[in-house]
Amino acid sequence: MVNYMLMITGELENLTNLQPQGGCDDPDFTYYFKVKCGNCGEVSQKETCVTLNETVPLPKSKGTTHLVQKCKFCDREGTILMIPGRGRPLTQEMSESGKFTPLMLLDSRGFEPVEFYFGTGWKAESMEGTKFDGIDLSGGEFAEYDEKGECPVMISNLRATFDVTK
Ligand SMILES: [Zn+2]
Repeated sequence: MVNYMLMITGELENLTNLQPQGGCDDPDFTYYFKVKCGNCGEVSQKETCVTLNETVPLPKSKGTTHLVQKCKFCDREGTILMIPGRGRPLTQEMSESGKFTPLMLLDSRGFEPVEFYFGTGWKAESMEGTKFDGIDLSGGEFAEYDEKGECPVMISNLRATFDVTK
């Protein structure tokens, strides 16, 4: 069994604690990514989206999972289950040292998750404590002004990887 840890980083200017709006285990936060078929290697054309509070029944067994999808090329079926409790906010310290922070663990069977897309519904706070909610990172960037700290705040150069974990 292979698990994938979604890891993210980016440049935070006068900001820290970048994370989903409702915290790292936000039940309503939507994760967008593509999947690569473990059988034929085909990468899905469209992004898949999964949300913690939206589950679907597992095919041919009891229980639920977050995604059941068929490869359009070879028809092989795969599933993805999200495992909460491992995510940590991206702090300015980590950002400055170029480190990635874990966001969500995926138990992915039959597929390899690839190409994470930063969507909407993020939050962060300025070094002065000003909170920025509902941040939209779908354009790859966020820029605002912190009245309290009297300085510009910015998020840019976003990157994500799916690291294989045991
Ligand atoms: Zn396939």
